[in-house]
Amino acid sequence: MSEAPPETSGNLAVESRAAFAAWVREAPGGRRFAQVLIRRQAPDGYVLCHVDDAGADDLKVYEDPRAARELSKLTEKGEYRPLKSSPNLRRGWQLRVPDDGGLATAMNYLYPAAVVHWHLYREDRLEITHYRQNAARQSGIYKRVQRLSDKGVQNAARACCEDAVCLKKTLWDVDEQLPLEMSRGEGEIPCPEPCSIFVSFARQVRLFEREEKRDLDEIGLSRSEKEDLTTLVRAAATGEMGFTREAEFEEPLNERRLRYRNLTLVPKIAPEAGEG
Ligand code: SF4
Repeated sequence: MSEAPPETSGNLAVESRAAFAAWVREAPGGRRFAQVLIRRQAPDGYVLCHVDDAGADDLKVYEDPRAARELSKLTEKGEYRPLKSSPNLRRGWQLRVPDDGGLATAMNYLYPAAVVHWHLYREDRLEITHYRQNAARQSGIYKRVQRLSDKGVQNAARACCEDAVCLKKTLWDVDEQLPLEMSRGEGEIPCPEPCSIFVSFARQVRLFEREEKRDLDEIGLSRSEKEDLTTLVRAAATGEMGFTREAEFEEPLNERRLRYRNLTLVPKIAPEAGEG
């Protein structure tokens, strides 16, 4: 379960790289692309840094575009980043690249395939694959995502894809007839198809749906809902609150799992509370 490879070959890559470089060059103050700020550096180069480091002068400087690979790998806390579009890019670095080619290489490590998708979207040529089409192609342990209800897809997308947890703009829908009802994001990077992280999360949500049908207790809670509540209260009581790793959806304190519980469990136990 990994994202698209960092390199894209062929004319499309060349075309996208040129369009992206032109887009950056025409903005005097630079361009923001997800969490990266890109500014021109005369004569032909570019300087990249985290958007929150725009005014910092104590950044560690790198001059090889391939350094972006390491910079994008781990969070500030040293945890692996399985989804490069999550808003957890580490800070403290500046990357100077000599030309358009260096810029494309760096961007492909920071946000794999994003420049090509950005270009195709601007040209109205980006193909969209909706959830049901994507699910129909799944096999093995992921085949069960085909049975996820429409409501489950909606809640999974809101928990997994909004800007708080992913900076891409969600373009796909449940299917051609049923749009996603969510905030699709403000970012520059389009998301044309459910990614592997989403499919994995959808599988977890499908497990919750099956559990709901099987065994609810007298107050209507499933076993995993009770486990999650217990873990949450204990973590708060002992001061050990903190999210588990990004793609560990089987863990009660996973951020996306908690966002899903906020959408589905809170209304069940406290309908008057509404959405938080
Ligand atoms: S499917 Fe969702 S989580 Fe995955 S890249 Fe697209 S918007 Fe982000």
